[in-house]
Amino acid sequence: MTPPYQPPTLQNGTESVWGGEEQRVSGWPTQVPIVQSVSFGYDDLDEWQAVALGQQPGHIYSRNTNPTVAAFEEKVRLLERAEAATSFASGMAAVSNTIFSLLKPGDRIVSVKDTYGGTNQLFREFLPKIQVDVCLCDTTDPEQIELQIRRGCRLVYLETPTNPTLKLVDIERTAQAAHEVEAIVVTDNTFATPINQLPLGLGSDLVLHSASKFLGGHADALGGIVCGPKELVQSIYHYREITGAALDPFAAYLLLRGMKTLEIRVARQNASALQVARYLEGHAAVARVYYPGLESHPQHHIAEKQMPGGVGGVMSFVLHGGYDAVKAFLPRLRFAHRAANLGSVETIVGPPATTSHVEVSAPDRAAMGIPEALVRYSTGIENPQDLISDLEQALARDRS
Ligand code: PLP
Repeated sequence: MTPPYQPPTLQNGTESVWGGEEQRVSGWPTQVPIVQSVSFGYDDLDEWQAVALGQQPGHIYSRNTNPTVAAFEEKVRLLERAEAATSFASGMAAVSNTIFSLLKPGDRIVSVKDTYGGTNQLFREFLPKIQVDVCLCDTTDPEQIELQIRRGCRLVYLETPTNPTLKLVDIERTAQAAHEVEAIVVTDNTFATPINQLPLGLGSDLVLHSASKFLGGHADALGGIVCGPKELVQSIYHYREITGAALDPFAAYLLLRGMKTLEIRVARQNASALQVARYLEGHAAVARVYYPGLESHPQHHIAEKQMPGGVGGVMSFVLHGGYDAVKAFLPRLRFAHRAANLGSVETIVGPPATTSHVEVSAPDRAAMGIPEALVRYSTGIENPQDLISDLEQALARDRS
């Protein structure tokens, strides 16, 4: 008997172009169309009901599913090597829907202090309101993280590399401890992208993204996504379909279009960021550079182990001269948007006080180890030599 046809496993450079988009219908558009419709009509009531009950493929209402959005979900599912995926209106919707759908009053969550500011705010402000016990560990202390996990928890929430000080968490090691107490591991893979790091292969149960960053890559669409095993993703989807943070089809189209170049963008950003970080590390005006691709980064060995594709396009650095130096330096840059964003084709800069950690007070930022003179630098796809020349002129002390 001939065995059933098994499609070959493709590399991510191919999945980012073709994943979710293969159409075999003659005369069908070669690009996924924007299906900008709230609902889908049926003449046959039996067919309508079968689709509504999930017994037959099809779409009913775009808060639940939509063809353009489904293509986006399928592409990311393939890139993350996951069984299932569901999308959201933003990265924070992905984070909050995942957490709220999996936790109930009395549960305990273990995470790290250095998560993205919005996620951190969720832990500090909203989870205590529903009597969830939140334990935030020192990101760079794996023993403390393991100890807290072994005390028992329902969820372990990781982000690696972290925003904005580029700390790393060893996903494999942490997931092992989490699974001993039957906790679910969630990893925010926004900074790394599936080109550089595949958390599901390292033991994470779920992987999520702010697609507004590297996945879309053009800073023109908000979106979020979570991928993992069918049953878990289905329960998160159910929470989202009822609470309503659905991805818009036009945003899904922009994200799909952006993702076709994901691998080449990220490869360029990986290489340029390393070059820029090395340059900054040797500059007299720079007190410290945070980039896990540098041999001087205390967790460089973790990057080498779990980020085979590269270390990503984002770094941060501290200027001598405090916040005043940052205020003088940023406007001098010619090739960088001064904006609260990252992961785009254009270079983007900003201090955490106005970007990732604007929601967090100055004393809390200090307690989290985020210096006020920190600059987050998200390398675009420009020529790296031009970026270095631009930094050179902006950092020059004597500007008479
Ligand atoms: N996760 C990380 C690591 C982020 O940097 C961000 C935003 O900067 C988010 C989640 C939230 O994403 P969004 O802005 O799409 O809601």
